[in-house]
Amino acid sequence: MKKSSNLKSFINEKLISEELVKAENPDSKHVLDIIEKGKEKKGLAPYEAAVLLKNSDPELDGMIFETARSIKHNIYGNRLVLFAPLYITNECSNACEYCGFKARNKELKRRTLTSEEIRREVEVLEKQGHKRLLLVYGEHPRFGADWIAQTVRDVYSVTSDKSGQIRRANINCAPLDVEGFRQLHDVGIGTYQCFHESYHSETYTKLHPRGPKADYLWRLHAMHRAMEAGIDDVGMGALFGLYDPNFEILGLLHHSLQLERDFGVGPHTISFPRLEPALGADIAFNPPHPTSKHQFKKIVSVLRIAVPYTGLILTTRENAAFRKELIEVGVSQVSAGSRTYPGAYNDPEYDRPDLQQFCVGDSRSLDEIIRSIVGEHGYIPSWCTACYRLGRTGEHFMDLAKKGFIQQFCHPNGILTFKEYLEDYASEETRKLGNRLISKELDAFEDEAKKKLLKDRLARMEAGERDLYI
Ligand code: SAM
Ligand code: SF4
Repeated sequence: MKKSSNLKSFINEKLISEELVKAENPDSKHVLDIIEKGKEKKGLAPYEAAVLLKNSDPELDGMIFETARSIKHNIYGNRLVLFAPLYITNECSNACEYCGFKARNKELKRRTLTSEEIRREVEVLEKQGHKRLLLVYGEHPRFGADWIAQTVRDVYSVTSDKSGQIRRANINCAPLDVEGFRQLHDVGIGTYQCFHESYHSETYTKLHPRGPKADYLWRLHAMHRAMEAGIDDVGMGALFGLYDPNFEILGLLHHSLQLERDFGVGPHTISFPRLEPALGADIAFNPPHPTSKHQFKKIVSVLRIAVPYTGLILTTRENAAFRKELIEVGVSQVSAGSRTYPGAYNDPEYDRPDLQQFCVGDSRSLDEIIRSIVGEHGYIPSWCTACYRLGRTGEHFMDLAKKGFIQQFCHPNGILTFKEYLEDYASEETRKLGNRLISKELDAFEDEAKKKLLKDRLARMEAGERDLYI
């Protein structure tokens, strides 16, 4: 019997198709009205998002980008959260047509890290300055919730010199049952992340012909089970290139609304990976629904307007120049210095198509990426985990975010984590650039009390204290 035998779909595919048809060829006034509504930062209904997605007037598209840019700056300021993926196992019993880790890919070398190997990978990442990781797992019967929980403990157990410490381990693994999610909650994971790949059930079924992942409904209800188990922060996503991108965006928005209805809060983050070439996965070389750069930028912008308080995550699947454009219109978190196979951070012969999940589009080091974030964007890289450690998650976080909290607290806390990076891990060039930006940020502070508090914390950091936040 399927695990999902008593579950029902809350994704009304017929409604999504109707919304997309109704939104076809929108007139300018309608698009403008929705842009105006978006500026209020209260979000958009799926149909309204569809209208923006279906607009093809370049001038109005420009206004959509501009609105997304201004919402992003207003809510998130010039702060960008950084993380690195850490692949724990590439063993997998599924048959996802697009992924190099699929069970029948005999060309891929299989590897699962031991506790000791996990620690060694974490040490390398800590020594680069990382504080936030996304742990990634294939799905295999040998690796259940208790094993995953142990790998999380392994990650948190590593503390290296200077400020080396992983302060938030997010997880991207196959959906578990409520008891399994409880085990992850108990070891202190940050966000539980799981992408639905395609909300179009026919496409989903075709691309996941065998294995536990073939069960669409079990995966669809994963976030509900995670939240039931007490995991407040969940991360949704769809894999772009498999089906009509507009359908997937509406799927994500309807999924998000369902969580809001059932738990009072939507997802903490949304990701939008695009298909990348992967060993033994033909479809990944020839996506059936390729998403153009323009379309992709629209997707990010429309999401920014539709769910203004949800973090938007961009990975190193995209190249450096395009990442820059996407960061401007809405992205709030990026991965940096990523390697996509188990053991990669300790592999001197890095770049191994026979081991990795997919090819990385941006292979710059963490320090290089930071230099570009600071020098070209004028952004503060942030590793802040204060909210999570103070229990400000889920609905609590969203309530605060809507009251302007991100600018008031996340911004100064971001500066403090950046200072920590500059003191402990940055190259000379990055340190100079970074300290200049911090001085500029301090000068721009209008709240004198907060400015004084921050100056005091920065001085304490220069004197050797670490892990300070307000
Ligand atoms: N095995 C778990 C699962 O499938 O949910 C988690 C790990 S899986 C490696 C993480 C995500 O990688 C998948 O959800 C999918 O969206 C993405 N992915 C798989 N193949 C990809 C490819 N060729 N290009 C880009 N992303 C891909
Ligand atoms: Fe396995 Fe996940 Fe890759 Fe599918 S996407 S083959 S479940 S690792």
